[in-house]
This record gives sequence, structure tokens and C-alpha cells, in this order.
Amino acid sequence: MRIVVPAGGIGGARFLRGLQRELGVDPDSTGEEPAITVIGNTGDDITLFGLRICPDLDTVMYTLGGGINEEQGWGRAGESFTVKEELAAYGMQPTWFGLGDRDTATHIVRSQMMAAGYPLSAVTEALCDRWRPGVRLLPMTDDRVETHVIVDDESGGRRAIHFQEWWIRHRAALPAHRIVGVGAEEAAPAPGVLEAIEEADAVLLPPSNPVVSIGSVLSVPGVREALERATVVGVSPIIGGAAVRGMADACLKAIGVQTTAQAVAEHYGPELLDGWLVDPADEGTAVEDVAVRSLPLYMSGPEATAAIARAALDLAAELKERRG
Ligand code: GDP
Ligand code: CA
Repeated sequence: MRIVVPAGGIGGARFLRGLQRELGVDPDSTGEEPAITVIGNTGDDITLFGLRICPDLDTVMYTLGGGINEEQGWGRAGESFTVKEELAAYGMQPTWFGLGDRDTATHIVRSQMMAAGYPLSAVTEALCDRWRPGVRLLPMTDDRVETHVIVDDESGGRRAIHFQEWWIRHRAALPAHRIVGVGAEEAAPAPGVLEAIEEADAVLLPPSNPVVSIGSVLSVPGVREALERATVVGVSPIIGGAAVRGMADACLKAIGVQTTAQAVAEHYGPELLDGWLVDPADEGTAVEDVAVRSLPLYMSGPEATAAIARAALDLAAELKERRG
């Protein structure tokens, strides 16, 4: 059974933990014979203080590798912030990014390898040698793609700011006119991405941000087309007309999509989606040519999350059979 999961950070990582539990994946395995290939969003990536930071790849890696700060959902457990404080004492900007000491070591390893010429995919593999996430973790691309948000500036014009600045510094409260993936059009899928999709028995879209996580993976040329040929089942990140955790509604608003399970499914479209899981709160959801099933979608704990993963796998198997 080969499964592909395009994923952002927290929502994707939590879903993956449930999926591993359901599939009985040894969480300490190297992922060399991977049942699960994760295509990680790299649109959130940013360079700060000369360090290349990949928040979503790291969230997946730390969560599945047992190093995550569980309460927060991102960053390392047992983290300290001495480096961040020392940088601030030098007056170094920005100060809004939560750069932890333990986390910094990851970014140093990554930046050093990249400076030596290794592509991000090779760097990610090397980092996973330590964390053993039990999945094959691939960045969506080795090329630089960065999500920027177009906001108003003080002089009545508009300017683009990095997604992280909009999301963390401004808490997504600055009205966003557009969200653009800088570099996406020229990017190529990372080695293994298209092959994994082609060989997949099922592609599961976890409850990740539809715009800046899944949308960013879909923006890499060739990925959407490959996914359209696969059996794809998505888990709605919207329950009862609200983003469960976080500020995904601000991203949806920026692209003119309503914050409903229905609108997100329509946004993905029937060419991409074969099946769509919604919460009982969104039972009326109906999209032509998409099989909709409902079950509780709140990832309240390992059991509930594994049940969501099971439902996604079952629906994918059913639809694949139907397609023949
Ligand atoms: P990131 O961590 O910021 O990179 O965000 P993700 O790309 O992982 O997206 C998080 C998305 O998952 C948000 O749109 C939330 O609405 C959604 N989400 C978070 N927790 C849950 C949950 O327990 N159930 C469901 N269905 N969606 C969730
Ligand atoms: Ca993210």
C-alpha cells in the first residue's frame, strides 16, 4: 500500500501521526521502504540571519520523530531562546520569528549543506536520518518558492511581504489582496515527487491550509496534473464554517473562497478531488463528481485522528475500485 500525502505543518503532521497509527507504521523506522511519502510545503520557507528555515518540513519531521513541542504544535520540545535574545540584544531584525536554540541547530545543518551545494531534498533526507519519521519526507521542490502576501502600504500603494511576516508578525490581520508563490512558475517538482504520485494507491489531502500549504504544493508545475490522474481523498480543514485552529480563513478570503467545507472542495475541484471527508456539522456538502462522506473531523487525539485516516483510506479504496 503506497500513500502520498501533500502536507503543510501542524494539521498535516497530526493527520500523518493518525495515518501511521492506522497503518501500523513503526514510528522509529527510517522510511526507507515507505508506505507513506509526504510532499512537504516549502512555500513558508524563509532565510533569516543567514539560516534557511523550512517550518513545515520541520514540523512534520519533529512531530513524527518525537521532537515536537506538543502543546504548541510547532518547534522543539524543551526549547530555549538564548540565541534569539542575544540577536535582539544586538538590535538584529526581525524579532517576531520564534527561533529556538534547538531548532537553530537544524537550520545550521541545513544551511551548511545547502551552501555546500546539496539540494533541499538531500538535506531533508539527511536531517531525517536523525529523526526517523517513518515516512519518506520530500520537499515539493528543490527550487526556491516563497509565498508572499500583497498588502496595503502606508503611502496608499501596495507591497509584498513574506508570508511569515504576514502570518506571525501581523497575525494575518492585515487585509491580503493577493497571495503569490514567488518562483513557483519556474519550479520543478523535487526528485521522487511525480514518481511517488504515479505509483500511489491513494493520495490523501490532510487538513492543511488549502491556500498556503496544499495550494502551494499544487502550484509546482506538473504536480496538480499528476494528482488529477491519482485517486485523491481530502479531509476538510473547515468544520462548521470555521478554520479549526489558526487563521486559514484569512487566506481563503484573500483568494475569494468562502470558509466552508463546500467552497474548499469546489476550489480544489472534481478534477483533483475524488472524495471529500466533512464533519457532521457540514453534512449537506455536495459537489458534483466528488464522493462526500461525513464523520467527526476534529483531531482531538490519536484515536480520533486514526479514525479520520481510516475513513480516508476506505473511501480511496472504494473509489479506486469504482474507477477500475
Ligand atoms: P500550518 O501548520 O500553519 O502549516 O498549517 P496547516 O497547513 O497544517 O493547516 C492547518 C489547517 O488545518 C487549518 O486550515 C485548520 O483549519 C485545519 N485544522 C487544524 N486542526 C484541525 C482538526 O483537528 N481537524 C480538521 N478537520 N482540521 C484542522
Ligand atoms: Ca505552514
